[in-house]
Amino acid sequence: MKKEGCGIAGIALTQGNAASPIFYALYALQHRGQESAGIAVCSGGAKGGKENEISGWKKDISLKKGMGFVYEVFSTQQLESLEGNIGIGHVRYSTMGASRVENAEPLLANYRRGKIAIAHNGNLVNALELRSELEREGRIFHSDTDTEVMAQLLAKELMRHDPIGAIKELMKCVVGSYSLVILMDNTLIGVRDPLGIKPLCLGELKDGGEGNGEGYIIASESPAIDTLGWNLIRDVRPGEVLVIKPSQGSRRSRVAENDLESHQLYRGVNSAHCVFEYVYFARSDSVLDGRLVYDVRMKMGKRLVEEQGVEADMVSPVPDSGTTFAIGYAKRSGIDYMEGFIKNRYVGRTFIMPEKASRDTAVRLKLNVVQANVEGKRIVLVDDSIVRGTTSRIIVDYLKKKGAKEVHLRIGSPPIIAPCYLGINTPTRDELLASKRTTADICEFLNADSIGYLSMEGLIDSVGIDANNLCLGCLTGKYPVEIPGEVCIARQLKLTQF
Ligand code: AMP
Repeated sequence: MKKEGCGIAGIALTQGNAASPIFYALYALQHRGQESAGIAVCSGGAKGGKENEISGWKKDISLKKGMGFVYEVFSTQQLESLEGNIGIGHVRYSTMGASRVENAEPLLANYRRGKIAIAHNGNLVNALELRSELEREGRIFHSDTDTEVMAQLLAKELMRHDPIGAIKELMKCVVGSYSLVILMDNTLIGVRDPLGIKPLCLGELKDGGEGNGEGYIIASESPAIDTLGWNLIRDVRPGEVLVIKPSQGSRRSRVAENDLESHQLYRGVNSAHCVFEYVYFARSDSVLDGRLVYDVRMKMGKRLVEEQGVEADMVSPVPDSGTTFAIGYAKRSGIDYMEGFIKNRYVGRTFIMPEKASRDTAVRLKLNVVQANVEGKRIVLVDDSIVRGTTSRIIVDYLKKKGAKEVHLRIGSPPIIAPCYLGINTPTRDELLASKRTTADICEFLNADSIGYLSMEGLIDSVGIDANNLCLGCLTGKYPVEIPGEVCIARQLKLTQF
């Protein structure tokens, strides 16, 4: 099964087309995936649906997806052709296996009352077993994603249960991380796994004007909501299922409104929020689980000074991922903040460069040294994390070639020693620089004058979430769910009565 990181958004409007705000929301989530994008819409109950005998409204879902950036996949015409006041969207990246449009999401599945569209951020660790079982029952798969496993399971459970009952059954058998937006039966559904591993938040549009009425949005990160000019309400709670049904309003009042229901299907004794969202993955302007990521990264940078301070002439970030950390470092240390590199903003994230380009070319394409700023200087070079070490090695060399006197690497997270199985695309243990090396070995390998990582304590204090409620798997090798061959710190879950 593919390992992937993704962004999701679902929108329900009382009137108007959802495709266009979903497009903008996906644009705001582009950092979460650049490989493919997709939008599915359903005409909902608010306008234009042809009656059918089951629910009274036509439930056709239109889908458009393709490879590439959001703006490459959708033209204005295509967006206009996606008619419907309720829909979901997805941006995806993966580096394992072939990039195929079949794996792009949203994915569709048929069930007895129509179609389901589903978009997923996260990673299931028991997808292969579940898929084999479903295949034995005669179900045919079109992609190699764990999302399709969930779509098929849902379709199966919908034979016996109502939507909430079916989702409850689904959540009982899947293990891993999943934030989902689902479109079915004229309804938008948002699901966050019981440990709240991947982020998901809820926002609203009040009196939208421009023919949009009112609306709700469920999205991976809050900048998707800000971009639309809507309001963030709150995070979706771990184990919570949100159901949003645009209703017509009564014939008498003709006031259309959305019904929002919350079902707390599972409640965990602990959560396991992904710490890497705070370190790298989320945007700095995101509010995740009530915390502004910018504040967290500033604190990490400041804490680095306390733990790993060094004499230097300037603090430079590795842009963009190290910027907020470096600002924090400069503020606390009093050392000048200067840009050693200028980033070409038209290049995507390094990990997603085409395979043909060498890592070296890829890094140079993305980052250029400002020679006059670095010549003869002792530089504190701040980044969020080191994964394979390829980027750090190249840029330390690059700075030295351009005349930097000393390069002191300061990293806003502890060493990454173990792979992620829960939705962040990290390589295997063998490829992780820190999995088998001491800090001194790493410093030598990177040709840096010194290296200092943030301590685990420093990280946890900066995030401000108790370690029992974080997933620290990539930093500790201990995971919040059972993964064959790995150590599990069991998180207890219980099914709430409803
Ligand atoms: P590396 O050269 O492998 O050490 O890459 C480390 C850089 O990649 C860090 O500066 C991060 O900003 C970024 N990074 C870390 N994790 C990921 C990831 N899962 N996907 C893409 N980029 C990442």
